[in-house]
Amino acid sequence: MRVRLRNPDREVDLAGARPVRSVLAELSIDPDTVLVIRERNLLTREDWLEERDEIEVRPVISGGAGGGNRMKCRRCKGRALIELRRHNAAFCRDCFLHYVHEQVRRAVKDHDMLDASDRVLVAVSGGKDSLALWDILLEQGYRAAGLYLGLGIGDYSDRSGQVVRAFAEERGAELIHVDLRDEYGYDVPTAGKRGSRSTCAVCGLSKRYVFNRAALEHGFDVVATGHNLDDEAATLLGNTLRWQTEYIARQFPVLPARDGMVKKVKPLHRLSERETAAFAFMRGIDYVVEECPLVAGNTQLKHKDAMNQLEATSPGTKASFYLGYLDRGAGLFTDSAAADLRPCERCEQPTTGRFCAFCRARAQILGERLAPPGDPPPRDQDIAAELAGESMPAEIYGR
Ligand code: AMP
Ligand code: ZN
Repeated sequence: MRVRLRNPDREVDLAGARPVRSVLAELSIDPDTVLVIRERNLLTREDWLEERDEIEVRPVISGGAGGGNRMKCRRCKGRALIELRRHNAAFCRDCFLHYVHEQVRRAVKDHDMLDASDRVLVAVSGGKDSLALWDILLEQGYRAAGLYLGLGIGDYSDRSGQVVRAFAEERGAELIHVDLRDEYGYDVPTAGKRGSRSTCAVCGLSKRYVFNRAALEHGFDVVATGHNLDDEAATLLGNTLRWQTEYIARQFPVLPARDGMVKKVKPLHRLSERETAAFAFMRGIDYVVEECPLVAGNTQLKHKDAMNQLEATSPGTKASFYLGYLDRGAGLFTDSAAADLRPCERCEQPTTGRFCAFCRARAQILGERLAPPGDPPPRDQDIAAELAGESMPAEIYGR
């Protein structure tokens, strides 16, 4: 049979009819990190493959490029399409979609994320998570508009933009498009080369800044991002390994609004990457499967890998780690960095210093000076004092 693997794209031919699980085992692929697709249908580990079959093995975990007829849906007892080992359950299409919606409803209710009257701005990257989130919020009747930020990362960004526009048009939903180069004069690849920050750091800083600013300028009550359980568990692991207690204290799926900061929510935090990918697939959402070409080797991916290894031998580890933290751990950490915020002298967004981290990063990338003409140049010790007292962007904006 022919097996098409993605990220990077390649094909292998395997001999002999057998179940999906044996194909995955031969290719050393963890069934929890992929979707197996035959002619637009999902297959479970127990589905049988014939010699003449062609299948696609699609990774659903970032960095994870290399999981019926015998499984029954837990809810309706029909034929299951997807198995969730951490719940020791399998679901058919309709019941799986119901399960996903319930997880989001529960997240929203438990953490008081959204009101029916809120204007919600969903940050959509073109990936599975954020498009699934937008789809879910629209289906649940929220007033949800999309925000796409063009990062200028070659073909990857072009394709992401197309996918997001197509989604919005299909549903007649409002989409706000901000282009980093047009609005702010740089793109992410240039920023990574010119500034002192790593590519991922400056990209993250730019996203958080633009999400907040666009939401305020267009009068939205809340920004929703597609961060999922895998993202949050990996971040918590990273923060814990370094005992970054201030970050740990703030790693909540809701950050309330405060001086110039709009409320931020992560309604997918109870769902794994594999679940959001399966949801997007089942809903026929066209999303960008390939990953950002610039992230290879980033620490977050290493932490995801580590969590996946634990999950493979003990299904449920990610959920008990992150959801258990929200339940029982978070109260043990205090957020003492409730720094005083004031408007940035350049852009008026909140900051703890004179100029916000975004404006400083941007000035560095563009080779500009931040202080207005006529201002005496700052003394080295003033700059050092300002930097030392400044809260990190993640403390201000969340992640
Ligand atoms: P990431 O930081 O790439 O893991 O993405 C986390 C979340 O940020 C996604 O689920 C989206 O909600 C949002 N996001 C990422 N990239 C973009 C983008 N280019 N435009 C709008 N939202 C984005
Ligand atoms: Zn600023």
